[in-house]
Amino acid sequence: MTRIASYVFVVLLFSGANVVAQNDSLALHYARTITSDELRAHLIVLASDSFMGRDTGKEGQKMAAAYLKEEFRTAGIPPVPAPDPTVITEGYYQPYKLISEHGGGISMSVGEETMRLKDGLLYFSENLDSDRSVDQVQWLAGGDERSLRKAAGKVVLLQEDGARSTKELMAWLGVTLPVLKSKGIEVVLLATPRMAQLVDELGQHVGGGRMRLANDEKKPSRRANSMQFMFIDGKAVDDLVTDMTWGKLSKKKAGRVVSAAAEIRYRSGQEELIAENVLAFIEGTDKKDEIIVLTAHYDHIGVENGVVYNGADDDGTGTVAMIEIAEAFALAKAQGHGPRRSVLVMPVSGEEKGLLGSRYYSEHPVFPLENTVADLNIDMIGRVDSAHADSDPYIYVIGSDRLSSELHAVNERANSMGPDLVLDYTFNAPDDPNRFYYRSDHYNFARKGVPSIFYFSGVHEDYHQPGDDVEKIMFDLLVQRTHLVFHTAWILANQEDRIAVDKVSEP
Ligand SMILES: [Zn+2]
Repeated sequence: MTRIASYVFVVLLFSGANVVAQNDSLALHYARTITSDELRAHLIVLASDSFMGRDTGKEGQKMAAAYLKEEFRTAGIPPVPAPDPTVITEGYYQPYKLISEHGGGISMSVGEETMRLKDGLLYFSENLDSDRSVDQVQWLAGGDERSLRKAAGKVVLLQEDGARSTKELMAWLGVTLPVLKSKGIEVVLLATPRMAQLVDELGQHVGGGRMRLANDEKKPSRRANSMQFMFIDGKAVDDLVTDMTWGKLSKKKAGRVVSAAAEIRYRSGQEELIAENVLAFIEGTDKKDEIIVLTAHYDHIGVENGVVYNGADDDGTGTVAMIEIAEAFALAKAQGHGPRRSVLVMPVSGEEKGLLGSRYYSEHPVFPLENTVADLNIDMIGRVDSAHADSDPYIYVIGSDRLSSELHAVNERANSMGPDLVLDYTFNAPDDPNRFYYRSDHYNFARKGVPSIFYFSGVHEDYHQPGDDVEKIMFDLLVQRTHLVFHTAWILANQEDRIAVDKVSEP
């Protein structure tokens, strides 16, 4: 290489480094506009009782959507330039239709009595789409290994004596039900002497609020080998079994088939609802057709028995991070430092009902998915889990390397730009038993081949409990974690080449 050429090379190298450094300092500058005070101010509103737990399709969710829209509008973010105006309403909303099967469910009539969910009956699935008459049940007693081996009928009856703790009982069911299912059993009835206690302890987890997207091709239907499991009140057994008394039956050997008389009815009770994703679109400059998406679900699980589930961490924290990140990009743009690629900040709804809002977006994207470079998703980043009680500030990073090793590297570089968090990849393990990779909104992008990261600080004792409140949020951590997502988005939006997809999508 000649002297001159090497001089040119050095100059080029130097100026290239300069651009990066300048960009890094701009990113730091705008990251500083994201403060814990502002995050807190938004969260106090969104996680207050007046938002009624932000239940999808309900008034609280609509109030949260309106709040987000107003924040985006006052940040100077214009309405979405939707190519098709019917897909965006009020400039910021992507509405979608849902079918709610609340109010429906299963009932069982025995003699004169009709048992319903939480009223003599507890069921854990609704894999039944037509009524059925029960004229025989097979008695399997306490369901030990030997009696389970005899299971052969369509409807089996088991008994529990109430001696186990509820946790032990559920663990036992976790082993027992798959065995019965593998034998082709269609309905499992478990008679219990402590119905009221079980309703109390398990009631909030069952039967409520099944929702799906209207016109979705993935309708939950009765699968070929589905099985219905129900707890029934032990008192009902005398009427259920017609040819002997409960006392006599319980002395019989397991495997015995006896006559019974019951009607199980399935009521679909469908209701149509509309929910919204909220879109804040910060249009890019020279690479504006390429999109960086940021998501966090702003819905939560609503009100149960008069108690509001505020969902401050889940996912109030991600939602307020969305507001602040959108504002930071909008401010940068207003000051002539807007992102080169476009940034779509999209708080989504329907997550708690099965990732429905993000699923709808991924099936009806406002901007083409081929041009969508990455999705950064936040779901719960305001607390500390038991594994990190004494840890330095940390964050779980999930999915970063699944589709793009470059995305993984960008996130690590972003972290070194200031946040300097411990990046914990525990839940990124392909065999993670929690399967977190599949459990938040980024997955609807990942399954379409869009490289994605799920940022998460772990579960805690208030997860899906009424105690998930603002007072327990650690705002110093929340702001650091939000900075990491902002820095990562900044690099993805501004670097010369779009990150490459170099790995194959999983099924
Ligand atoms: Zn969540």
